[in-house]
Amino acid sequence: MARIFAITNQKGGVGKTTTTVNLAAGLAMLGKRVLLIDLDPQGNATMGSGVDKRELSHTVYHLLLGQAKLADVVRHSETAGYAVLAANRDLAGAEIELVGEHGREFRLREALAEVGEHYDYVLIDCPPALNLLTVNALAAAHAVIIPMQCEYYALEGLTDLVNTVKKVKAGLNPAIEIEGLLRAMFDPRNTLAQQVSDQLKGHFGDKVYDTVIPRNVRVAEAPSYGLSALAYDKASKGAQAYLQLAQEIIRREEGRQHGKA
Ligand code: ADP
Ligand code: MG
Repeated sequence: MARIFAITNQKGGVGKTTTTVNLAAGLAMLGKRVLLIDLDPQGNATMGSGVDKRELSHTVYHLLLGQAKLADVVRHSETAGYAVLAANRDLAGAEIELVGEHGREFRLREALAEVGEHYDYVLIDCPPALNLLTVNALAAAHAVIIPMQCEYYALEGLTDLVNTVKKVKAGLNPAIEIEGLLRAMFDPRNTLAQQVSDQLKGHFGDKVYDTVIPRNVRVAEAPSYGLSALAYDKASKGAQAYLQLAQEIIRREEGRQHGKA
C-alpha cells in the first residue's frame, strides 16, 4: 500500500517544495515508486520536477473539481524518475469553486483511492497556508512531514500547525499522525539555530529526523534547470542529505510495519 505524506508548514520559504522534490528523487533513486503531487498554485514543485506548468491541459485542479481522473492527469517525468501530478495558477481558483460543494475537504482523498497499488510513496507539496487545499492534503494523508527553519519564531508557528493536525485528526482523518520534523536549510554555525534545534528535540523527541538538511547553494540552483539537487549534482552536500533523509524515512517505514505485524 502506498504511504501518503503531506509536506506541510503554513510558513512560506521553509523548504517544503525543495523537500518534496528532493525526497521524491531520493526515494525513486532507492528503487521506490513515487508520485509527487503539487498542491501549490505557484507550481514550483511541478517546474522543479522538469514539467512545464505553462503547457498543461490537465492538472490537479481538474482532478479536485472532478473533471478528470487520476490516470489522465499523472505524468511520468523521465528526468525526475517519479510521477508528477502537476499544478499551475488554475489551482488558485479551486478553493472558491469548491465553496459550498459537498465533501469538498475529501476531493483529493477520493481521487487517491486507487493510488495504493501503483506507488510506494505519495508526497504532497502543500501551499504556505492552512486553506482548503492544505485541508485536502491533510484529509488524504497518512502522516505529515514538517520542514522548518530553526529560527526564533519557528516553534510558535509549529504550535498552530500541531493544533491544525489535531483538529483534522478529530474531524476529518482520525488516522493522521506527524511523521517527522525536518530541520531544513540548517546552518550549524548559527548559535540560535542550535538552540532552536535543541528545543525542538526536547519537545518532539524522536519525531525530529536525525538527518539535517544543510543550506547548500546546489540545492537552490537545481530548480532553475528543472532538476532535483540529486539529478543536478548528486555529490553535493544538500543532495546527499536528502538521499540520507529518504533512507531514514524508509527505515522508519519498515520499523512501523514491523511494529504492526
Ligand atoms: P517553501 O516551499 O516552504 O516555500 P522552498 O522549498 O521553495 O520553500 O524554499 C525556499 C527557498 O529556499 C527556495 O529559493 C529554495 O531554493 C531555497 N532553499 C531550500 N532549501 C535550501 C537549502 N537546503 N539550501 C539552500 N537553499 C535552499
Ligand atoms: Mg513551496
